[in-house]
Amino acid sequence: MRAEPRCAQCDSEDPKVISLRNPAGERYCGRLCFYKGQEEFVRWLRRANAEVAS
Ligand SMILES: [Zn+2]
Repeated sequence: MRAEPRCAQCDSEDPKVISLRNPAGERYCGRLCFYKGQEEFVRWLRRANAEVAS
């Protein structure tokens, strides 16, 4: 556990947006990084679902 959390997307210091899905591990410095992170999560989720369905 690091004392200073960093943005999960761009690694900048002092992130203020916390992901609702993963409050412990996902923090973002702003909305832009937050949306980027969510997009990647959705993409990953769709791929995982596709693998399960096939
Ligand atoms: Zn960021």
